[in-house]
Amino acid sequence: MLEQTAQATEKDFIIACNNVNKWFGNLHVLKDVNLNVKKGEVLVILGPSGSGKSTFIRTINGLEEVQQGDITIDGINLSHDVKDIERIRKETGMVFQQFNLFPHMTILKNITLAPIWIRKKPKAKAEQLALDLLERVGIPEQAHKYPGQLSGGQQQRVAIARALAMEPEIMLFDEPTSALDPEMIKEVLDVMKELARSGMTMLCVTHEMGFAREVADRIVLFDQGEIVESGSPEELFDNPKNDRTKLFLSQIL
Ligand code: ADP
Ligand code: MG
Repeated sequence: MLEQTAQATEKDFIIACNNVNKWFGNLHVLKDVNLNVKKGEVLVILGPSGSGKSTFIRTINGLEEVQQGDITIDGINLSHDVKDIERIRKETGMVFQQFNLFPHMTILKNITLAPIWIRKKPKAKAEQLALDLLERVGIPEQAHKYPGQLSGGQQQRVAIARALAMEPEIMLFDEPTSALDPEMIKEVLDVMKELARSGMTMLCVTHEMGFAREVADRIVLFDQGEIVESGSPEELFDNPKNDRTKLFLSQIL
């Protein structure tokens, strides 16, 4: 990361985090995190449970406040100003382990709700976009069903379409396949791969090593709130340098 900052200035990065520190009470959960991400880059975040991965990506869209350091998203500094936080939320779409769809609304309603009410998109336009996105994630026939009628994999694809409907610059994924039955993981990863190929900037917390190797431009490993190693999939998987990376990989591969 240091080499990177030396060559490029902050404006070359869509995400720039400098010396980010966060505490929950006395618990120091993010320790001097420095991370810059270029537009279109696909970053995979690995690390043991409790290492701060979720907290970190939640700070990127202003869901968590940081006590020290500096975060700039697409030129907007994440200050304490509510207006800036709102602007940054518009830049980022987020997909969680739990799909969090509204159970009493159809799939189409789930996807069009925020574009219509928050973005003030005309209903017909929002619906057309939603149908296009359902086509893109491979389930156009589900538009008028309710979440409970869909499989977990289909619901997660709806959650991705719903995030995309806000036309974000950055997509954040926090273990999007961890709650899925094994046979449904591939259909969600395939959608994420297509999104990556389309040039979307993506930060993905995942334990899917095949996906990480195939799709990531760069992998970072978190341990105890620190980024302990960062590199290409080949560097990280085939030639890890840090002992904590080696230990982590030996436990999961
Ligand atoms: P990961 O996603 O890598 O499993 P998290 O970011 O969820 O890790 O958590 C990092 C640490 O912060 C853990 O020790 C966790 O217990 C703690 N933590 C997370 N959220 C909160 C919170 N809202 N309040 C207090 N502690 C938290
Ligand atoms: Mg987590």
